[in-house]
Amino acid sequence: MSLLEGKIGLVVGVANKRSIAWAIAQAWRNAGATLAFTYQGERLKENVEELAGAFGPDTLLLPCDVTRDEEIAGVFAAIAAKFGKLDLLLHSVAFAPRDALEGSFVNTTRDAFRVAHDVSAYSLVALARGAAPLMTGGGSILAMTYYGSEKVVPHYNVMGVAKASLEASARYLAYDLGPKKIRVNCISAGPVNTVAARGIAGFGDMFKHYEARSPLRRNVLAEELGATGTFLASDGAAAITGQVLYVDCGYQIMGM
Ligand code: NAP
Repeated sequence: MSLLEGKIGLVVGVANKRSIAWAIAQAWRNAGATLAFTYQGERLKENVEELAGAFGPDTLLLPCDVTRDEEIAGVFAAIAAKFGKLDLLLHSVAFAPRDALEGSFVNTTRDAFRVAHDVSAYSLVALARGAAPLMTGGGSILAMTYYGSEKVVPHYNVMGVAKASLEASARYLAYDLGPKKIRVNCISAGPVNTVAARGIAGFGDMFKHYEARSPLRRNVLAEELGATGTFLASDGAAAITGQVLYVDCGYQIMGM
């Protein structure tokens, strides 16, 4: 039997075929899961529709700007109506105003700080709260994070602070939801060339730096994130919760 046969998953954060969320969605699908996708606004609807269309008619497609509670409520109401349950949730969204990812961190405005945390960290709490009542047989919640949460990565700035908040939120959620057999983990990915990544000043240098310095001397592949996402969603990870798993070709262990 496939690893995720019979599981229902919600994927938040597909913008296009390069999105990490798309790599994980494909892996979940290949492992037998049935999926629902969200898209942020009409601009991305067509992209997501085209990609998710390949998964067949049982795939659900729903609008969701994660800063809007009513849209989050609508997503879970639609999943309850169509599937009656949920097993997996992928949180793969992040945003900070471009200025905040270019200059000095000390110049981060109150508004940029608020927006970055609202979209990139609080949204995990809001989505987990909506998902939990549907995860009646237990569940697995995954969030995408980055090493800039624990070490200074030039230009990552307020996004690093928001990722620290995301990782801490995952730990508190893991504690709250553990008695319901709902696990909450983060995947800390090495750099992947996506739209969000290209918004970070100096991303090209970061990419080359990982290739030169990581123990495996290369960058992570999107399909490797898909494989890790499938493992964390599966019963093989049944005793793993509240963790940050580094999928970065070993870069995180380096001191110099
Ligand atoms: P991506 O393809 O651009 O995906 C980011 C997604 O977040 C997009 O679908 C984006 O939609 C969505 N989003 C932003 N604001 C939103 C909102 N208010 N409501 C709903 N969705 C919103 O980039 P990605 O690299 O795959 O990023 C996915 C996750 O992986 C992020 O959490 C990112 O920080 C993390 N990550 C990425 C890397 C990397 O190197 N790429 C490394 C480690 C971790 P719009 O396009 O409409 O804004």
